[in-house]
Amino acid sequence: MKYQKIIMQPDKKIALVAHDNKKSDLLEWARFNRVLLAHHALYATGTTGDVLERELGLTVTKLQSGPLGGDQQIGARIAANEIDFLIFFWDPLEPMPHDPDVKALLRLAVVWNIPIANNRASADFMISSPLMDSEYERLIPDYENYRHRQIQWEREDEEIETV
Ligand code: PGA
Repeated sequence: MKYQKIIMQPDKKIALVAHDNKKSDLLEWARFNRVLLAHHALYATGTTGDVLERELGLTVTKLQSGPLGGDQQIGARIAANEIDFLIFFWDPLEPMPHDPDVKALLRLAVVWNIPIANNRASADFMISSPLMDSEYERLIPDYENYRHRQIQWEREDEEIETV
């Protein structure tokens, strides 16, 4: 398989999201790792970002609240290579009105091969990795074949068009 490389800088662009029952978990984790987090660029869904800014005094780029489109905004930034790390503490015991958005965000994180921590243990392992503070070459599949896949459709004169 052919791959492309995306360079992740030592200062990473990290998105943080926590569902309501997981916000205190994320806050405790972020408080413990405040110094490690401070030199990265932080993004968050609205309410998660409010909590982190208020309690930790960190500067966070706050997007919409998750159920109002914040998860999708983070997904769009991942696709635009504007976010390269996701800490997403989602709640496995609560049905969410924006479940499709949650799934879409997790899917895009996989499409673009960005590291995702979905619970504290994963976040602990990731934040303490030496890769966290160094340059990293992230491999993504070369999607050119997909972009140039053959598509056929029928024109008004009933000829078949192919690109
Ligand atoms: P919130 O969104 O940070 O605005 O609460 C989180 C989510 O539910 O995706």
